[in-house]
Amino acid sequence: IIDFGIQEALQKLGLTELNKGTSTGLNWFSNEETISSFSPVDGELIAKVETTSKEDYEKVVATATDAFKTWRVMPAPKRGEIVRQFGEELRKLKEPLGKLVSYEMGKSYQEGLGEVQEMIDICDFAVGLSRQLHGLTMHSERPGHRMYEQYHPLGIVGIISAFNFPVAVWSWNTALAWICGDVCIWKPSEKTPLCGVACQNIIAKVLKDNNLPEGISCLINGDYTVGEMMTTDKRVPLISATGSTRMGKIVAATVGQRLGKSLLELGGNNAIIVTPDADIKMTVIGAVFGAVGTAGQRCTSTRRLIIHESIYDKVKNAVVDAYAQLRIGNPLDENNHVGPLIDKAAVEGYQNALQKVVEEGGNIVVEGGVLSGEGYESGCYVKPAIAEANNVYEIVQHETFAPVLYLIKYSGEVENAIEMQNGVAQGLSSAIMTNNLREAERFLSHAGSDCGIANVNIGTSGAEIGGAFGGEKETGGGRESGSDAWKVYMRRQTNTINYTTELPLAQGIKFDL
Ligand code: NAD
Repeated sequence: IIDFGIQEALQKLGLTELNKGTSTGLNWFSNEETISSFSPVDGELIAKVETTSKEDYEKVVATATDAFKTWRVMPAPKRGEIVRQFGEELRKLKEPLGKLVSYEMGKSYQEGLGEVQEMIDICDFAVGLSRQLHGLTMHSERPGHRMYEQYHPLGIVGIISAFNFPVAVWSWNTALAWICGDVCIWKPSEKTPLCGVACQNIIAKVLKDNNLPEGISCLINGDYTVGEMMTTDKRVPLISATGSTRMGKIVAATVGQRLGKSLLELGGNNAIIVTPDADIKMTVIGAVFGAVGTAGQRCTSTRRLIIHESIYDKVKNAVVDAYAQLRIGNPLDENNHVGPLIDKAAVEGYQNALQKVVEEGGNIVVEGGVLSGEGYESGCYVKPAIAEANNVYEIVQHETFAPVLYLIKYSGEVENAIEMQNGVAQGLSSAIMTNNLREAERFLSHAGSDCGIANVNIGTSGAEIGGAFGGEKETGGGRESGSDAWKVYMRRQTNTINYTTELPLAQGIKFDL
């Protein structure tokens, strides 16, 4: 029996009092209702976490509102220093936190560590950014006037996150929101509540060590009903929500109703176009990792391979051969490539998709199936499957959050493949494998991919924090992380200053008194 060191990791993360999960860094929660966190790795109950009641939520908002008054007047580079210290704590706790991510969510230990590394990277990015929150200056049309714009913090940023990136998505939002002068309230996925408590413990310590108000970072726990406390709350000017398109439509409507802002990071239906000029070896690595990594539970997972007919069989055979080598099992064991799905409902979704694609006329080329027996007791382990399909099938148009890859054939020019790639409701990530410059440029042009992310000669999966991350259409249109994504966490103000003794009116208007 391999000891994966989970208990030790939980201890290092301060998760020893497992029934006292909910916290804002304060310990006054006393709700009887709890959510149970089961590991998809072995089906064990890891802990129960108290959910947030309406009364507790009110206390959280009051604490955050108060903390905002201190935090917004602290110079941005000083706020950056706090984020730097948070990044340092994450460096120290990378292994235990990576392990918890792996055990509670089911992704591989390497991916768990990678997720914590993303948190560290966004902290580094945010520290530099804390000295660069710049606006523009403009020349005024009026003599003796100066005009410029500046960015001010918004207030409370509400973060609602999905189970599949249980820690990184929070940090992409918080690291930027904090340096911008905002305070945050986070509702993690009810499927990964312990990851939330672990992160809250880490930042609470940093805030305490610096004598700063704990309300700068708050945590609330529970299902969508707890999320709704924030989406309906006028005191929360920005809601950043990551999850399914179904959820995004409800959140956008609710927040829109009160004219709040929302930043939406929703589902994808990502494709790789493989042209006759593709490097097949690179294609196979990109496609297989994209389709089976995190058991197909990344928003950027590769769902469709759109392959030119002239190389279709060659690519198909190479991908099928690669699937035969995949090892499925405990994600904490580094010998395995594919871990479990998050829960049995996800397994059902996977089974339904495979049944549906056959009903619609698809042809299974790598059989799926649910694994049972020793090592698979949780019932969440499935075999990555491949089906030949048509882009217009209803099931192909739908994001199935599981390792199901569709092979789709195209003929003629690359425009035909681009049309198929764009011919879905989602618009997150896309890729082309080609050594042909014309094809690559066409794919990236105005008439090319309609996604927020378009890659050449790498897969759809994964992204660096330096670029703005997000997608179009039903993916929600939000951008997080790098580039100028910070601006969404601030309000823009235009200022005009008159340094003369005259009061000329704009547009030459005369108003003689
Ligand atoms: P989900 O939509 O079921 O839940 C996401 C979060 O929203 C949870 O915290 C949930 O409690 C909350 N929620 C659900 N309904 C709500 C409501 N009406 N009001 C307020 N909160 C509500 O998604 P999931 O199963 O956890 O995650 C998988 C989905 O997330 C996939 O579609 C995936 O593509 C998407 N995702 C997108 C990105 C991105 O950046 N685009 C990143 C990660 C995941």
